[in-house]
Amino acid sequence: MFPASFGYVAAHSVDEALQLLARHGEDAKLLAGGHSLIPAMKLRLASPRTLIDLGTVPGLSGVRLDGATLAIGSLTVHGDIADSDLVRQHLPGLAEAASMIGDVQVRNRGTIGGSVAHADPGADFPVILTALNASFVLQSSSGQRTVTVDDFFVDFYTTAMTVHEVLTEIRIPLPPTGSGTAYAKLGHPASGYVVVSAGALIQRSPSGACASARVAIGGLGGVPVKAVATEMELQGKPLTPEVIAAAAAKAAEETDPDGDTYASADYKRHVATVYARQAIAAAVERAAG
Ligand SMILES: Cc1cc2nc3c(=O)[nH]c(=O)nc-3n(C[C@H](O)[C@H](O)[C@H](O)COP(=O)(O)OP(=O)(O)OC[C@H]3O[C@@H](n4cnc5c(N)ncnc54)[C@H](O)[C@@H]3O)c2cc1C
Repeated sequence: MFPASFGYVAAHSVDEALQLLARHGEDAKLLAGGHSLIPAMKLRLASPRTLIDLGTVPGLSGVRLDGATLAIGSLTVHGDIADSDLVRQHLPGLAEAASMIGDVQVRNRGTIGGSVAHADPGADFPVILTALNASFVLQSSSGQRTVTVDDFFVDFYTTAMTVHEVLTEIRIPLPPTGSGTAYAKLGHPASGYVVVSAGALIQRSPSGACASARVAIGGLGGVPVKAVATEMELQGKPLTPEVIAAAAAKAAEETDPDGDTYASADYKRHVATVYARQAIAAAVERAAG
C-alpha cells in the first residue's frame, strides 16, 4: 500500500525541528527510524502532510554516563543499545530488551525515542523502562521538562508528550549496589511484538533478602502494568525460588487484559506469572554476581 502524499523536511537542530513543528502545526509528524510511522502511513492510519526528519539532527544519538544516571539519546537505535558496553554493564535488562526487538533490520533503524513516543502496547522498551524507573526529557520552544515513566505512558499509543515537544533523552538512574535487572518476553512469532513480557529491577541486601523491587508487565493493557502485589510480596523476604514463585504468581493481579486472536485473556494472565518469575529470577542472579 502507498501512503497519502506528504512533504518532507530535514531538521538540523532540535530548535529547527521545534520551529518546523510550530510552522506546520498538527499536520506534521516527527520522523525518527520510520519503522512504526511509515507502516502506519502506508495503512493510512496516519496521514501527516509533512514529515520532519530528526535523523539529520546531530547529538541526539548515543549512550553516556551522567553522574549516577545513564543518559540515552532519543535517536539511539535499538541495536546500539543492545551492544552498548555501558548498558550491558549497568543495565543488562535493558540490553536484553533491545536485543529482542523485531529483527536485525528493525534494530538497525528503529530508535528508543520513536518506540516510546509511539507507545505501542506491544513494544518492549516501555516495559523495561517502567521497571527501571526511567525519565523522559522533552524539549519545546518554551523550555525543557522531564516526565517520569509512571506519568509518561498514558494509554494505547498515547503519552504525556504534546505535539509541540521533541523527546531528546531517556534518563535511567543507575541501580544501587547489589541490584540486578532482567527482561523476559513471549514475543509474537511473526513480528516479535510483545504478547506478554516482564521487566525487573531487584536489589538484594547483604543478608540476601529483597531490599527493593520494581516489576513491570507488558501485554496486559494499553500501558505497562506495575506489578505492585508482586513487589510487596518480595519486599524484605529471602530471595529463594519459592518466594520468587509466590511473588510472580501475583503479577497479573487486578489486571483485565483483552483476549485477541493470538492469546486469550486467561492465557496472557497466566503467561505474565511465568515471565515475571523468569525476569525476577534472572535479576536476582545478576544481583548476586
Ligand atoms: C517488522 C517490525 C517488527 C517490530 N517488532 C518490534 C518488537 O518486537 N518490539 C518493539 O518494541 N517494537 C517492534 N517494532 C517497532 C520498532 O521498534 C519501531 O522502530 C519503533 O517502535 C519506532 O521507532 P522509530 O524510530 O522507527 O520511530 P518512527 O516510526 O519514526 O516514529 C514513531 C512515532 O514516534 C514519534 N517520534 C519519533 N521520534 C520522536 C522524538 N524524538 N520526539 C517526539 N516524537 C518522536 C513520531 O512522530 C511517530 O509518531 C517492529 C517494527 C517492525 C516494522
